[in-house]
Amino acid sequence: MEYAVQPAPIYTLSIEGRSESFPVNRIFCVGRNYAAHAREMGKDPERDLPFFFMKPASAVVQAGPQEVKIPYPSKTGNFHHEIELVVAIGKGGANIPVEQALEHVYGYAAGLDMTRRDVQLEARDKGRPWEFGKSFSKSAPIGSIHRAQDVGHIASGTIVLTVNDQPRQSSDVDKLIWSVAESISYLSEYETLEPGDLIMTGTPEGVNAVIPGDVMRGSVDKLGEIVVRVAG
Ligand code: MN
Repeated sequence: MEYAVQPAPIYTLSIEGRSESFPVNRIFCVGRNYAAHAREMGKDPERDLPFFFMKPASAVVQAGPQEVKIPYPSKTGNFHHEIELVVAIGKGGANIPVEQALEHVYGYAAGLDMTRRDVQLEARDKGRPWEFGKSFSKSAPIGSIHRAQDVGHIASGTIVLTVNDQPRQSSDVDKLIWSVAESISYLSEYETLEPGDLIMTGTPEGVNAVIPGDVMRGSVDKLGEIVVRVAG
């Protein structure tokens, strides 16, 4: 195959204990999936149907216990952290029943849905798309993927983020309004899932701003720690 311009790179994540890499396809993100976070965003946390937005594969930054840097993005004065459980899809499918949804999971990771909050809220309040608030390159630092066959399926466990060693977010994955299986099933009614897709399952309460030089440490029980510095 000859290409007219250089093809886009394949973005990858490491897999804990394995030499092969996980090629990232699309990134689907669930909005307001913890009640206390929905409330802090000024929304009623009643169990509405889930909603999704997307990030490009170029959002991915390989993170882990060794510090990595992400840039402070342009056009924002309110750059927010959102620590999340990330689901890596290993087997594609459409119209997946909830009872079979976990069979489609390759593994799990801890990740950050970094957000230009000022831009997102302006778009939200004007009824415009969230893209410039959410869907930008290097906005999703994610740790190594832990295979479900190694760590089991993640339905509970602490999810924590500190900034400069000060507590910011702390909750439990069992507080997800829409479980991993329910999110996969619902999403697959709209879009045929493909191997390599990631689902960022939403953040608990405590989202807040970071500034250049800040160091975020995030973790989800069983999935290790990620350490991410905002470049400055
Ligand atoms: Mn999020």
